[in-house]
Amino acid sequence: MTGSTATAAAVRYLFVCVALLMAIGGHPRARQAQPQTPEQFFGFRIGADGELARYPKILEYLQHLAKTTARIKYQELGRTTMGNPYVLATVSSPENLSRLDKLIAINRRLADPRGLTPAEAKRLAQEGRAFYFLYATIHSTEVGNTQALNELLHRLATDNSPEVRQILDNVVLLVVPSQNPDGQVLVIDHWYKTKGTPFTRVYPDLYHKYVGHDDNRDWFMFTQIETRLAIEKVHSVYKPVITHDMHQQGTDGSRIFVPPYDDPYDPNIHPILVQGMTSVGQAMASALVAEGKTGIETNARYDLWAPARQYMVYHGQSRILTEIASVALADPYVNPAGKDVPLGPQEPRWNYLPYTRGDWRLRQIVDYANTAAFAGISHVAKYRTAWLENFYTVHADWVNRKSGPYAFVIPAAQRDPYETSQLLDILRIGEVEVYQAKAAFTAGSRQYAAGSWVVKLAQPYGAFAKTMLERQTYPDLRLFPGGPPKPPYDVTGHTLGLLMGVEVDQIDRPFEAPLEPVRSVRPTSAPMPSVPQWAYLVSPESNAAFIAVARLQAAGIPTFRAARDFDLAGRTFAPGTWIVPPSPDATRVLADVATTSGMQVFGADKPVAVDAYRLKLNTRIGLWRGANNMPAGWLKWVFEQYGFNHRTIASPDFNADLGLQYDAIVLPDGTTRDTIVRGLDSRRHDKEWTWAYGVGDVGWKKLADWVRGGGTLVAIGSAVETARDLLDLPIEKSLPEARRGRGAASVPSSNGGSGDATAILRDAFSSPARLEAALRERVIDPASLFYCPGSLLQNEFNASHPVAFGMPAAWPVFFESDQAYRLRPGFTTQTEVVSRYHASGAILQSGWLLGERYLRDQANVIAFRVGNGYVVTMGSQIDFRAQPRATFKLLFNAMFHGPATRVHSSQIVRLTH
Ligand SMILES: [Zn+2]
Repeated sequence: MTGSTATAAAVRYLFVCVALLMAIGGHPRARQAQPQTPEQFFGFRIGADGELARYPKILEYLQHLAKTTARIKYQELGRTTMGNPYVLATVSSPENLSRLDKLIAINRRLADPRGLTPAEAKRLAQEGRAFYFLYATIHSTEVGNTQALNELLHRLATDNSPEVRQILDNVVLLVVPSQNPDGQVLVIDHWYKTKGTPFTRVYPDLYHKYVGHDDNRDWFMFTQIETRLAIEKVHSVYKPVITHDMHQQGTDGSRIFVPPYDDPYDPNIHPILVQGMTSVGQAMASALVAEGKTGIETNARYDLWAPARQYMVYHGQSRILTEIASVALADPYVNPAGKDVPLGPQEPRWNYLPYTRGDWRLRQIVDYANTAAFAGISHVAKYRTAWLENFYTVHADWVNRKSGPYAFVIPAAQRDPYETSQLLDILRIGEVEVYQAKAAFTAGSRQYAAGSWVVKLAQPYGAFAKTMLERQTYPDLRLFPGGPPKPPYDVTGHTLGLLMGVEVDQIDRPFEAPLEPVRSVRPTSAPMPSVPQWAYLVSPESNAAFIAVARLQAAGIPTFRAARDFDLAGRTFAPGTWIVPPSPDATRVLADVATTSGMQVFGADKPVAVDAYRLKLNTRIGLWRGANNMPAGWLKWVFEQYGFNHRTIASPDFNADLGLQYDAIVLPDGTTRDTIVRGLDSRRHDKEWTWAYGVGDVGWKKLADWVRGGGTLVAIGSAVETARDLLDLPIEKSLPEARRGRGAASVPSSNGGSGDATAILRDAFSSPARLEAALRERVIDPASLFYCPGSLLQNEFNASHPVAFGMPAAWPVFFESDQAYRLRPGFTTQTEVVSRYHASGAILQSGWLLGERYLRDQANVIAFRVGNGYVVTMGSQIDFRAQPRATFKLLFNAMFHGPATRVHSSQIVRLTH
């Protein structure tokens, strides 16, 4: 076929015509002669002290480069949470850009090598180009990398050196200038707005509408728009062989980290990918050293365990993380101890070349970023065919997987069809192939009904399915045998079924079943009963019931919950069953939710003799969202997803009666007494931050009075201590805490948790000298340590208690450096334990846990009557990053139950005015 030659001739002809038009000035969009340098375009040298290029202007610059050169294609892939453009710049030779579709098709073929022979794969690897996905500033205060990309792209677009030619000919570079554009706008606008003022110049709040720094913990649940854009519009479309995620780290310590990573590695990552990370990381280190740059660290600190940060490694790609030392945005940093005193510990090690100066500036960040990125891209360009052959081999090994397990089965009958469909949707986004059984079958030793789902692991993205569906056994990593634990970089357990309340079985041996591919993961819509005489009934197991409740509340429809179980028409309804008297509005809401979520609705024609709780109409929920509190940001997102009637509590609210504004207030993990009383300092933060100012001791007392007067307070994670302090709750901590030095209590963990050993251990591990000191001072005592840095731990629930309505008798809760409690005598407060850790039997279900004995029979969720008010404390983070959907019900139940009223069955009626 000579079509391509003919096309090339046509293109040449067209080009001549365009050139002629341009020459006579007849073309309205004539290419300018010369692309401007970043300095010419922005008016300052990138990385100059005090100056930052703004995101919208950067997009203009990329468009300018795309218009004035033939090497860059500019595309807006979508809009972000706050409506900013999410942009992709594709950089390669004009020849490669003109046949991009063909090159993408090659990648897709190599990524799914079923039916492809090794010889064909080799030929495709020769013909193909290596796609390198590069993005910056997912963390918005780590501004240097996005700034640096302007220079990198200008160089690639204009330079004709052999090194640049080699890159353009062999690589297609996919550049997302910012993975969180909203944050770039917020942070840099704030930077300029506060110039010359007494106000703090670093943006004081979450640099994303919901998730802040945790936007880099969303790579397996895909909750946020920006995550979805990167996955569905870059990863899934282009199939890159490598992703390079550019970050900045703390100021004291190494100047840059490049791979290889520290232990542990998720064993589901193909060893070829691990070698790829090592070779690219070392190419970066070599280039930095060759330029005389120091402070280069490898094999340290950053591990390769949690999929929350590493989608790419389960999709055939090497993962490159670069972490460069920070300054406060664009302000130079000089060691307060003296400008010649090195920044932090600087002991030479085999994996660390010390940086001995006492200062650091934005321009250096830009230089390090440019050198590292250029070296990484060059390396992949040089070994292009090897990268593409490896890309094929990884996927070929995955589709031909021989080792067990064989599959995971998700039984058709689930307590919560809604979350089951959400789980299947997560697998769909991750491009996992899921099948559904047309008839009953046997797998393992169990019989499964028709409609059950099957995920076989021998498939292109079987590694992703496996890490998400299996239970994690985190390696017991110690510094030395019997010594202290080595902290993970992030959490250690992430089993999706356990997080979401979905039953999933691992099947080790092959089995036969009549399967067909799943075409839609939407739940089967449940049929509505005919309009009942007395009430609709909805069982309390599905989270979708709360979507319905939010809508019923918004429509002013009375809603009740059965106070105990009852039988009707041969069916037993669990305690907490929703009872909704019929009305046209109620029918419409329930039918809508049943259609979209699979929630089952029943009808009762005759009244059931059961006491009930009547929800307060239009229950008003207050969310305490301290500045920069991520758990609060996640909860804001959750409340919006469910449509709850909620509002962020702001300090001016305390000028009026709280009771007129809120029925229930939620204190997320990380909310301390200091968050409430002091908040942001008004002298350092302008009026736009009034909402986050402290409410003072007067406000603190007002909050306590509001609870005693009838308010409902729900405290999660470390905020349990705040609630205990506020109301003198009769509980005490069960778990020992590591100490720092003599007498000091706990140290806050990175996300504001109550801080067991994590922060202390991380600090100790920052250098051998600090570790030695920690061991000498016995701040770490391995023998008596309790340690659980993010795992799933079994709880027993009292499902007849209103806070645990809809929960199974036992299910894991998420626990991340949290606390458990025991009751102490309380004379004025009535206390009920809603959930506790097993007295016997395994507590750890997925992840890592040291000191299990401390948890035995200790309480997690506790409900209190305080005066006329209601308080629920949840010692573990049952809502951690909006991931453990299985335990959302505890929070939702508590928020709605506190303000509810107990009524006799005769009072379960429609509201008539
Ligand atoms: Zn970062």
